[in-house]
Amino acid sequence: RAKSAGGSRFEFADAEADARAITRHGLTTALPAALERGEFFIEYQPLVHLGDGSVHGAEALVRWCHPQHGVLGPDRFIPLAEHTGLIVPLGRWVLQEAVRQARFWQTQTPYSAAGGPLRINVNLSPTQLHHPRLVADTVEVLERSGLEPGALCLELTESALIGADEDLLKPLRQLAEMGVDIALDDFGTGYSNLANLRRLPVSVLKLDRSFTRSMQQQPADPVDVKIVEGIVALAHSLELAVTVEGVETGAQAEQLRELGCDTAQGWYYARPGPPERLHALSLADAV
Ligand code: C2E
Ligand code: MG
Ligand code: MG
Ligand code: MG
Repeated sequence: RAKSAGGSRFEFADAEADARAITRHGLTTALPAALERGEFFIEYQPLVHLGDGSVHGAEALVRWCHPQHGVLGPDRFIPLAEHTGLIVPLGRWVLQEAVRQARFWQTQTPYSAAGGPLRINVNLSPTQLHHPRLVADTVEVLERSGLEPGALCLELTESALIGADEDLLKPLRQLAEMGVDIALDDFGTGYSNLANLRRLPVSVLKLDRSFTRSMQQQPADPVDVKIVEGIVALAHSLELAVTVEGVETGAQAEQLRELGCDTAQGWYYARPGPPERLHALSLADAV
């Protein structure tokens, strides 16, 4: 009896694994047609100054409105698109659409409450970084939209840049020279040598959500406080700005502001949402 119960449990686990594999396979094969049919859309999450909560830009976050499964988050399909190479046309679409949107906000609101024109952050996957047309595509998208390069920030994860040699960094350097900001996303989760930061053409560190989470407890974990303090000091000495992600409470925002972080993003300020909402938020004095 016990044996047969155990057997069925394994069968259940196998069936679940099968179902996941089938879904993964189905999603992977559906990706190209989904791009052609326009099933992807972008939500925008405000980026704010920690000092006064004013909105100075937004991060573009892609979603897939799947005809059967409903809205899928990027964690469900970006790894699949990476794997098949579809990330290149998909990423190009996100860049083009987000840059066009940012230019539109700017024409509607030449000056945000934060002072300057609104800026846009776009995530790049490692495959896009390796693609020979990255610089040419980016220049073309910027020129076509009329957005100045200084209003664009490309986010790459720390792990995408670990061990990157000069050849791989060259396109990023070219973009940085044009005025495009490069951000190191999810910083603190990889194993990059801090001294190595100097070598990378980055101007922003995005501190991973795990640090923000540990600021949740009162008092915050003293070791994490020290680490954040150290990262901020190093970043500022290298003239890098520090953004924190995943701010969910006022206490976290306050703590991170005291630790010297510059800008923030998180549910405390606003969840990712449609482009119209960002436009309204950017006009308010503070979120
Ligand atoms: P990311 O770039 O680190 O983006 C931040 C993620 O944290 C987003 O998840 C955002 O919705 C979520 N988030 C923001 N504030 C909070 C908060 O206060 N609490 C919590 N719990 N979460 C918060 P999302 O939209 O699911 O995106 C996940 C990841 O997918 C992104 O992480 C990024 O690495 C990737 N991604 C999204 N869009 C694109 C894209 O267009 N291209 C590529 N290559 N990757 C993308
Ligand atoms: Mg990001
Ligand atoms: Mg991030
Ligand atoms: Mg993250």
